[in-house]
Amino acid sequence: MIRAIQMAGIVGMGGAAFPAHVKFSLKPDQSVRILMLNGCECEPFLTCDHRVMLEQAEALLDGTMILAGFLHPERIAIAVEANKADAIRVLRQEVDRQGIPVEVIPLEVKYPQGAEKMMISAILGEEVPSGKLPIDVGAMVSNVGTAVAVSDYFRTGKPLMERVVTVSGTALARPTNVLVPIGTPMQEVVDFCGGITHPEPRILLGGPMMGMVQKNLDVPIMKGTSGILVLTDREVVDPVTYSCIRCSRCVDACPVFLNPARLGLLARKGLWLEMDEQHVMDCFECGSCSFICPSGIPLVQSFRVAKGLLREKRPGNKPPPDSFDDENHYFQFTVSSLRSQHAADHVGGGDHPGAGGAHGILGVREQWPVDDPGLCGGLPAGRMDLSACDPQDPIAW
Ligand code: SF4
Ligand code: SF4
Repeated sequence: MIRAIQMAGIVGMGGAAFPAHVKFSLKPDQSVRILMLNGCECEPFLTCDHRVMLEQAEALLDGTMILAGFLHPERIAIAVEANKADAIRVLRQEVDRQGIPVEVIPLEVKYPQGAEKMMISAILGEEVPSGKLPIDVGAMVSNVGTAVAVSDYFRTGKPLMERVVTVSGTALARPTNVLVPIGTPMQEVVDFCGGITHPEPRILLGGPMMGMVQKNLDVPIMKGTSGILVLTDREVVDPVTYSCIRCSRCVDACPVFLNPARLGLLARKGLWLEMDEQHVMDCFECGSCSFICPSGIPLVQSFRVAKGLLREKRPGNKPPPDSFDDENHYFQFTVSSLRSQHAADHVGGGDHPGAGGAHGILGVREQWPVDDPGLCGGLPAGRMDLSACDPQDPIAW
């Protein structure tokens, strides 16, 4: 089974695109207490998992039972945020129809509920220890789209060739969820969704909290492309970074109890090993600290760099640079400029943007319109200009 999943090219469809066969390979001393299907898509704008649960519930549960067939979990659950009532209803109906032992568990609506460790904590009431993986507490977490891909391959022989992508944003003519072949040019997908309506759009890959700035659309849809957001330059706040004022909001916001202010200071000084000692590798890059920081400090961006550099420090890899220098800034995107009340509510546990809408067969492959893009509107985003930081300032983040 593991070899088949590898040959089908199946990866985690939540966005990280981690090879599924690696995740599903258990060591002899490991066992699965609970197989969790992750339907907690909790970033604003992104609704592709919601549509998968609504439109592909049968395949989702089929893939789940195929996974259960070789992982032998004691318990099987699908975790869905409570505001996705239609998905919960559809899944429960399908569970009853198939007569399978799958629990559909509504979870509190909050960010970042979709993170593996948060979900395990919510369902099992246990924390994954620092430096450990979910399987170390007996949990196997997989995105709902991954289960659909498993079903597709085992029932039809079709490898992972397509995925559902949320194409949204206030600078897009027709926000839509599309089922699109991997490799399709993003420009083609955006054109399919009515094209861009703003002269100076800002493009993000993924959601506004964890996504990456994309300079243009001359790139293909990849296995990990969960969303394309097209925002207007009016929504993008040119960032200004100030010194840390020791307000501790980032500490309060961090769901894994790190000290982002201290980690940011260490990153600025290039003290990578000290960051390792402060458990930066436990950061799962949710972006909450950057979002909440009143000084606009690019915290999560520097943690991404630090984690990459620490991995490179492993024997045989190139050594890290001396500091977090300008060469590392090209991919930076900060959510600290998100000023929408909706986004703030969401991070604090407010409502999630709707993902309902009609179903239709269309040219790219298939589309599921977002029913109320207005709910997703007004979410500004911005690129952090680190030149605003004074490297000589000893207290500048
Ligand atoms: S991005 Fe910030 S808030 Fe999120 S886990 Fe990492 S340090 Fe904590
Ligand atoms: S890094 Fe930002 S949020 Fe954290 S203590 Fe400093 S100013 Fe406050």
